Amino acid sequence: MIRFPDILRAQVARLHQAFHAAIVRTGYANGYRCLYPVKVNPLRHVVAEILDAGREFGMGLECGSRAELAAAVSHLGDGSGLVVCNGVKDESMLALAIDAQRLGRQVLPVIQSPGEFAMVRSVAAEGGEIPELGARIRLSGGISPGRDRCAVPDSKFGLSMADLVEALEQSPEVLRQLTLLHFHPGSQVGDLARLERAAREAAQVYATLVQRGAALQFLDVGGGLGVNYGDVGDVPTTQPNYSIAEYARTIVAVVNEVCCARRVPVPVLLSESGRVLTAHHAVLIVPVLSVRKRRELAAETALPPQSCGSTVMLARWARHVQGARDTNQAFDALARIDEGHRDCSTRFAEGRISLEEYAVSERAFVTASRRVLRVLQDAGARLPAEFRALANRLTDRVVCDFSVFRSLPDHWGAGQAFPVMPIDRLSERPSSRGVLVDLTCDSDGRVNRYVSADSDTSVLPMHAPRPGAATDLAFFMMGAYEEVLGSAHNLLGGVSEIHVRLDEDEGKGYRIERAVPATSVADMLAQMGYSEAELRASMGELVDSRVAAGNMPSHSGRGILRRYATYLRQGTYSRPGPGAKQ
Ligand code: PLP
Repeated sequence: MIRFPDILRAQVARLHQAFHAAIVRTGYANGYRCLYPVKVNPLRHVVAEILDAGREFGMGLECGSRAELAAAVSHLGDGSGLVVCNGVKDESMLALAIDAQRLGRQVLPVIQSPGEFAMVRSVAAEGGEIPELGARIRLSGGISPGRDRCAVPDSKFGLSMADLVEALEQSPEVLRQLTLLHFHPGSQVGDLARLERAAREAAQVYATLVQRGAALQFLDVGGGLGVNYGDVGDVPTTQPNYSIAEYARTIVAVVNEVCCARRVPVPVLLSESGRVLTAHHAVLIVPVLSVRKRRELAAETALPPQSCGSTVMLARWARHVQGARDTNQAFDALARIDEGHRDCSTRFAEGRISLEEYAVSERAFVTASRRVLRVLQDAGARLPAEFRALANRLTDRVVCDFSVFRSLPDHWGAGQAFPVMPIDRLSERPSSRGVLVDLTCDSDGRVNRYVSADSDTSVLPMHAPRPGAATDLAFFMMGAYEEVLGSAHNLLGGVSEIHVRLDEDEGKGYRIERAVPATSVADMLAQMGYSEAELRASMGELVDSRVAAGNMPSHSGRGILRRYATYLRQGTYSRPGPGAKQ
């Protein structure tokens, strides 16, 4: 992983400048501050960099769990940054937020369920006073499912309007402590009109609460500001239909309009924008380990004697594309080839054809299908879905030294396509295509969709590998969510990383500021409850028993133990690499 902290800083500045410009343009009589949501990328260096870059803009943090709150509190320092504490709260989490307030920091617990109102009253009863609070509301309109994969039509969290009205009737004293109103419209929201509608609805609630005596100062419009991951052919995607500047202008204008109409002072605007700050700063470099090609039928291969009709038919198609003179005939041929292949597979499963014949039929199937697909491609024909799946099966499998489950969880879980491209031979037109597969034993461990202008976005245009030369691919926009959502499937751990910072004083214009080793095999196993000492001890016992029985010289036994110890200290990926701890 290559991390570029300068990109984090640039994004922080870009977002604040967009809001500043919108505020000036609209004549908005208050300010804007971003709260970085820790969950989007909680790595300490990432959070610290964002806070440092955002200090001049009054940047704060959003947290949503016990651990995130502890991390956020650790960043409070001497700053005046606001911390908004979302998430389901237990008493100790609420108490920590209150303790931080007692220490003079603005840490706002956000009430998001009726039960939390009651908890605030009881925690405060012990300490005597009700803390400064926020409330999260659940919007009924404006956001609906569709293009926006994470939009929240029926959000898990937040007070409904009915909850809010009831809570305020029961606890008017809480209203006087309410300084922040929050809603969250979803993540990677594609349509600006939906964000506008949500902001309008929330602004109405804000104005109403102010008119009823709430001490509100902040309106927090949550996350949702989308980034452009690139187009995936004509497959519907969640690319935003707006820029950062348009997002800022819309939020500022809508809140201004509602507040002016309702004659209430405009709030300090907050947004919990995470993806837009972090997505671009991290690039994952993935080495290609091998390319698994489907074998074709050689011209000289003789068919096994008494081959069945389907094998003979496949071989005929493989050798001359007879009859496929127009696209209709080619589609027809493709269907017959596919059927012939399935027939051979059934015959083999029933023991009616030999392994040799089955192997020949498979090669003939690959050659024949590729020939007909080329005819279709040359004619510019659009493949129906079933033939696209067949074409995909014939594409080379490119085995890459990574885990989709660890490094690309949003692709696995939500079908998000990320920009992927080679990092060298950039002036050469890619002549080959491939489907990227990972090291895990799972068939889900593959990349199914690519950012590409091609009509077939299920394959990646690539360079044909050069014998002896390494091929490395870069996966871009890895900085938001991917690093925390990933799992340890197959015990593939964290990758090694370097942090690269621009530096004009360096000859190359940049410097490598930090190198972080990959998770070692021993560290990965420790997370699963295995201790390195025990692993080594049990290996030692095995060796001792062989040596004691006279089956192995002791120096060989010592060599095995040395290699095992080294292995445990290396990384979990196929090429342990220089970053791995030795
Ligand atoms: N705030 C809350 C409460 C969230 O749940 C999320 C993510 O879903 C965010 C902020 C961050 O959203 P985004 O990354 O779209 O800016």
